[in-house]
Amino acid sequence: MIRPAELIQRKRDGGELSAQELDELVLGYARDEVPDYQMAAFLMAVFFRGLSPAETHALCDTMVASGDRLDLHAELGRTVVDKHSTGGVGDKTSIAVGPVVAACGVPFGKMSGRGLGHTGGTLDKLEAIPGFRVELSEEEFVAQIKEVGLAIIGQTGDLVPADKRLYALRDVTATVENVSLIAASIMSKKIAAGADAIVLDVKVGDGAFMKTLDDARTLAKAMLDLGRRAERRVACLLTDMDQPLGRAVGNALEIREAIETLRGEGPPDFTELVLQASAHLLAFSDLGVDEDEGRRRAEAVIADGSAVAAYERWIRAQGGDPSEEALERAPVVRDVQSSDSGHVRELRALPVGLAALHLGAGRSRKEDEIDHAVGVVCLKKRGDAVERGEPLAQVHARDEQPAARAAEEILSAYELGAEPTEPRPIVLDVIA
Ligand code: URA
Repeated sequence: MIRPAELIQRKRDGGELSAQELDELVLGYARDEVPDYQMAAFLMAVFFRGLSPAETHALCDTMVASGDRLDLHAELGRTVVDKHSTGGVGDKTSIAVGPVVAACGVPFGKMSGRGLGHTGGTLDKLEAIPGFRVELSEEEFVAQIKEVGLAIIGQTGDLVPADKRLYALRDVTATVENVSLIAASIMSKKIAAGADAIVLDVKVGDGAFMKTLDDARTLAKAMLDLGRRAERRVACLLTDMDQPLGRAVGNALEIREAIETLRGEGPPDFTELVLQASAHLLAFSDLGVDEDEGRRRAEAVIADGSAVAAYERWIRAQGGDPSEEALERAPVVRDVQSSDSGHVRELRALPVGLAALHLGAGRSRKEDEIDHAVGVVCLKKRGDAVERGEPLAQVHARDEQPAARAAEEILSAYELGAEPTEPRPIVLDVIA
């Protein structure tokens, strides 16, 4: 029988745990035999001391082994692809990439998470669609990928239950931002959910867990390593999260922006990321195309309407109403006006994410209810010219008071300068 206090002490003092010790600790926690306070102390020790590559492998293996494992390749007889983001502000990429890839004839199956801290979660966004069911059984998940070519669901209780508990504990103990913990958490879910090929969107910057390109590269390499050990094809896109992705931040607002993008009317940065992520996924698929051809096909399904048709089929299959009119609108919409003229030098993602969180678009505590209608639309982004009195952004709120508070937070996110800034691409690097 392990003694958690000894393992905590060893990690606190910079020592290493064996695979068996990690296994017993993590599975013991998943079975409720190790209490929250000891696991929280262990996580904090890991946060400061890190995990060795061998410990990271062991943690990932343990989490995968804590529940069911799907084999989508065997179920479909096809290469199934998946995409995952490390979390950002305004990140609705999967909601557009899934339909694009499915419209190109490639099966897409994803288990997704909820918002963590100031970052939004794909499941919370999908629940802004009236009637949409995120809780499908594993059988329903597989059946829907077979029939519709696309399913995005919540992580079922049977899949990686150890991560489900650890993830929730990390969220409330300030132990999220550790490379090994993030890599093992994400890759355990990807490996257990059973896709053959995975594109990982590693966010970098102010609004991301990884603040620098170096840290993002370290995380990308840790995830590639875990993927390869599990015989998955993995590519990591390192993408800019110094400013929010696209314009919309907030659940229903982001669904609208995803639909606009599928119609070819999305913001340029978000559209570019959707096309690049889709191109990588198509190149990994069994279509036998390279990335250039993948991109051409992704552009074609947006142009001819088949991406929107795939979106509608998918949303209906999961019980939702795919029309834009069905999405709730906030009762109060206020412009945030610029007090100066100039060019947007910075639009920091973190304060925008926090403003949306404080409006009710995210959770401050695990048990909080999300308000799907509220959020922020950033009308001006880095590099845009702005005149004094022109709206920089729009706040969508339940009431006047939270709208006024959010407007102040958003103003603090903008920094104007006299000269236009150098454009920065949305995809900063690709590691494969
Ligand atoms: N997303 C995850 O799934 N896990 C983490 O630890 C962080 C982001």
